Amino acid sequence: MTVAVFLDRDGTMNVEKGYIRNVDDLELIPGVAQAVRKLNDAGILAILTTNQTGAARGFYDVAHIHALNDRVAQLLKEQADAHLDAMFYCPHLAKGTVEEFAIECDCRKPEPGMILQACKQFPDIDLTQSYVLGDKASDVAFAYNAGCRGILLKTGYGERVLAGKYQALAHQPHFVCDDLPQAVDVILSHMKACV
Ligand SMILES: [Mg+2]
Ligand SMILES: [Zn+2]
Repeated sequence: MTVAVFLDRDGTMNVEKGYIRNVDDLELIPGVAQAVRKLNDAGILAILTTNQTGAARGFYDVAHIHALNDRVAQLLKEQADAHLDAMFYCPHLAKGTVEEFAIECDCRKPEPGMILQACKQFPDIDLTQSYVLGDKASDVAFAYNAGCRGILLKTGYGERVLAGKYQALAHQPHFVCDDLPQAVDVILSHMKACV
C-alpha cells in the first residue's frame, strides 16, 4: 500500500501570480521544498496535479507549461534535494479559444482524471489513505471525487475561499492548514496516529 499526496501547483507550491509568462517569475512558497523532501523521505508519493488553462486560452503553448513544471522540479532539487514522483496537468478548458484544448475533458479538476492517471502509473496507491493539497474549493472537490482526504491551504486563493469570496465549498476539507509545509506535518502526524 502506498500513500500519495496530490499537490496543486499555483498558490500551493509556488506563489500565486496569475498566469506566469516568464518562467523565472515562478517562485516556491517558503518551506515547500523542505516539506516535499519530508514526503520523499517518508516514502510518500508526491504527485503534481494542476489545471493549466493558459494553453486553452491562447496565452502560451504546452511547452511553456512543461517549462514551468520543470522550474518547480528544479527549485525543489536546488532548495532541498526534493523531487516530485510524477507531474500531471490538464491543459483543457471547454470555453477555451484554442480548438485543440477547448474540450470537455475528464481531467480538469474537480474531475478525478489526473488521480486516475496517477493510479495507472502507481497501482499500489491507496486513495482512501491519500491526500490532496490545494488552495481552491475545486481542489477539495477533486479529493472528494477521487475518494481522498482534502486539505485546503490558506495560501493562494485559500483565504478568499474560507471567507466565502471565491468558489463555494461544496465539500468540507478534512483539514485547513496555513500552508503546504504545515499540511505535510499534519499528514505525517495523522499517519503516525493511525498506525
Ligand atoms: Mg491553486
Ligand atoms: Zn483535461
